[in-house]
Amino acid sequence: MTSTIDEKKKVGATLLASAQAALDRAAANLNLDPNIYTLLKTNERALIVSVPVEMDDGHVEVFQGFRVQHTSARGPGKGGIRYHPAVTLEEVTALAQLMTWKCALVNIPFSGAKGGIAVDPRMLSESELRRMTRRYTYGITPIIGPKIDIPAPDMNTDERIMSWINDTYAILTREHNAEIVTGKPVSMGGSVGRVDATGQGVAIAAREVLQRAGKDLNACRAVIQGFGNVGTWSARHIREMGVKIVAVGDISGGYYHPDELNIEEMIQYVKTSRTRSLEGYEPPGVEKIDNDQLLTISCDLLVPAAMENQITTHNAGDIQARFVVEGANGPTTPEADIILKERGITVVPDILANAGGVVVSYFEWVQGREGFYWTADEVRTHLNRFMEVAFKDMYNFSQHRGVSLRESAMMLAIQRVADAIALRGIFP
Ligand code: NAD
Repeated sequence: MTSTIDEKKKVGATLLASAQAALDRAAANLNLDPNIYTLLKTNERALIVSVPVEMDDGHVEVFQGFRVQHTSARGPGKGGIRYHPAVTLEEVTALAQLMTWKCALVNIPFSGAKGGIAVDPRMLSESELRRMTRRYTYGITPIIGPKIDIPAPDMNTDERIMSWINDTYAILTREHNAEIVTGKPVSMGGSVGRVDATGQGVAIAAREVLQRAGKDLNACRAVIQGFGNVGTWSARHIREMGVKIVAVGDISGGYYHPDELNIEEMIQYVKTSRTRSLEGYEPPGVEKIDNDQLLTISCDLLVPAAMENQITTHNAGDIQARFVVEGANGPTTPEADIILKERGITVVPDILANAGGVVVSYFEWVQGREGFYWTADEVRTHLNRFMEVAFKDMYNFSQHRGVSLRESAMMLAIQRVADAIALRGIFP
């Protein structure tokens, strides 16, 4: 376990190095003002807190918690909180930067932030988890707020944990502020349509890229890797648009049907399965394949929606899809991205493709501030509009500058943040 955690901690450092490299490339392409570049390379604020927790048996454990605000140039900080033993300051910093670019690209008035606790939440009881969350919230309260920095769920945190953060913040500040966190249960001021927002955004991105290439959606075939929140909702919404899903993969392997898989049946299967996966799913006509085969099936659209580093130099040369829409964060390594580009495969980058979740988080914050809640139709309509406009901006900029969609997304986002910094000037 320890060596796995050490390995994962190195991933945090690598993630930060790649985030910095992506910033460097885009800054060079944009001929960015060196003073603004210097600012964007560093965090505006980073807080490390001790989180002492009285465990159920009476002894005290002290965990390390983080909250990083990359910049406040375009509005309050926005970003999730993750609970994982390998959480480090480097990882949280890289993810906060990513949030800055994502919010700027979809043009919502937030800046990037991220937080986390280095803990394995599976080792805690429910009451230990609650005490840890409340103490962490107390620790970061001086730097968060509904108009300062608004946390959300991330790896191993959910709406129950958001409810505890919301309640702790209300007790400490003696005020109700539903908009202090997003990703809350609907009964606590959450937004309808949040649960499927990321998958819906992935489907909109897929539709936009396929249609611009003149494809008939009803004649397209898709492969989806990952069948959790993003994968299942992407599959549902992509199918609704007419595209047939011929293969799906999860931790248990890949499942292929040459005509079409039955996505609703597969979702029901996972819901009732002991392992919460597709393990053992064997209806007639479905062939079990491995994850390497899954990624290289002949299809129009590939949606990696499981985890980072799935398309690498080992398989990029074998990918048959003409379009890759990145549902997961960082599923394509920078080296593999170059190979895909050389092979004429269009990649819709993660910061656009999976931004539907943060867009609906923004809607949740707006609804909390107004104290007036929208219908599911209103959420869907506004999400569609935000994703379409962001896609169009990215696509047009890429055509205009002759760069890939990924380069375009980064350049556009960085330019927007740089413009805000330039307009504000440097205090004092
Ligand atoms: P999840 O835990 O709900 O689902 C993950 C899925 O990936 C599961 O089906 C799991 O079986 C599968 N998986 C795990 N390891 C695998 C492996 N080695 N090979 C193949 N499949 C494997 O997670 P999620 O919320 O759907 O997130 C998926 C990705 O999307 C992550 O990169 C996450 O950061 C990103 N993302 C999620 C959201 C969101 O709103 N949930 C928003 C933006 C980005």
